[in-house]
Amino acid sequence: MTQTADVIVIGGGVVGTSIAYQLARKGRKVILAEKKDLASGASGSCDTSIFLQSKNAGIHLKLALASAELFKGLREELGHDIEHHVKGGMILIETDDEMRIMQDFVARQRQTGLQVDIIDRKEASRMQRGLAEHLVGATHSPQDGDVNPIELALGFAKAARRLGAEILLETEVTGCIVKAGRVEGVGTSRGPIHAPVVVNAAGAWAPLLGKMAGLDLPIKPRRGQIMITEPVAPYIAKQILSASYIVAKYNAEKLKESKSRAVQLGVGLSLSQTQKGNIFIGGTREFVGYDVGNTHEAIGTVLKNAIRFVPGLGEIHIIRTMGGLRPYTPDGLPLVGFVNGLEGYFLAAGHEGDGIALSPVTGKIVADLIVDGKTFLDVSALAPDRFSL
Ligand SMILES: Cc1cc2nc3c(=O)[nH]c(=O)nc-3n(C[C@H](O)[C@H](O)[C@H](O)COP(=O)(O)OP(=O)(O)OC[C@H]3O[C@@H](n4cnc5c(N)ncnc54)[C@H](O)[C@@H]3O)c2cc1C
Repeated sequence: MTQTADVIVIGGGVVGTSIAYQLARKGRKVILAEKKDLASGASGSCDTSIFLQSKNAGIHLKLALASAELFKGLREELGHDIEHHVKGGMILIETDDEMRIMQDFVARQRQTGLQVDIIDRKEASRMQRGLAEHLVGATHSPQDGDVNPIELALGFAKAARRLGAEILLETEVTGCIVKAGRVEGVGTSRGPIHAPVVVNAAGAWAPLLGKMAGLDLPIKPRRGQIMITEPVAPYIAKQILSASYIVAKYNAEKLKESKSRAVQLGVGLSLSQTQKGNIFIGGTREFVGYDVGNTHEAIGTVLKNAIRFVPGLGEIHIIRTMGGLRPYTPDGLPLVGFVNGLEGYFLAAGHEGDGIALSPVTGKIVADLIVDGKTFLDVSALAPDRFSL
């Protein structure tokens, strides 16, 4: 089988499917190749949060704010129930030191345009029942939300297909066809596909795909282990993180130096409750290659940590555990843009713990850049060539 397209998208997670949808909307003939099934990577083994508060002030937060706007009409636009809600979110603060760090974080986020406040323990307890006595306060933003990430990927793919995109499942990309410094397509387990533009949206696997094109990408898989409870009546009212989650997210190198196993495992609290009532409890941040297994040590540490913040969680049963691979980059920002010196090769990977939240805006930016050569935000900070590839 030989096929041709205007653009080949590699990867059927939330990022690849969002890109396929936006390109198809702009009238491009798209073929998306996915090794396994839609959302079989990180997009199917992650939390549900569209957190704005967890983003650094500046371009990171600007992307999240733009994405949050796109989420608002997405259910109707895709014709698919993606279980999107805007419930607000909190970051729980345990110590005065954390309070000082979060005050600075919040002040900078407000300058970028986020509605976010520091609240005391009493006010936090009015918003979320069962919070531990030792907490000193929390941050709160009414703009945080959630979504079902699997339904999101399915919704993007379904809408892309309706607009003429071809979604090839169980189709592994095995090589990149390059002639005279220009991409001409990819080799796959089902035969070659030809196109003048190839988008690498393979998440944590992007560096393996990059290698096929002679690129050395700075993306590394960063495992997150999370737990899921039995469905219960409404209990977690907001999207919840802890200040220690923010520290773990942005200080990968420092975690190794700690003597505490919880810190080494990158444990930071994340809590959310799905439309069906299951509570997602997270999580870890670990560099263990492509291993998506769960470990007893991590499960115990994550649960103990969660109960320290919300003691009543100890009464609820865990029914499932998951491990997923966040695509980590050294500066916490994804690589989005054409690669200099390899004409036609586009990168859209490296969203670490933010890919669900940033998928709508990433799809839009990628389609804008490929079709129109420009987009609505200054995304020069995402240019792949900020790293030596
Ligand atoms: C525990 C955990 C919790 C998280 N919580 C959140 C959250 O609350 N909010 C948030 O915004 N983000 C969260 N994230 C991050 C989010 O899951 C990722 O950033 C996002 O899913 C990345 O999407 P992606 O499409 O880039 O990658 P993926 O979903 O990993 O998709 C990549 C796809 O590429 C395919 N692929 C790989 N190799 C090939 C090949 N050779 N040929 C064809 N296809 C190939 C894979 O099969 C896979 O389906 C979390 C992640 C984890 C692990």
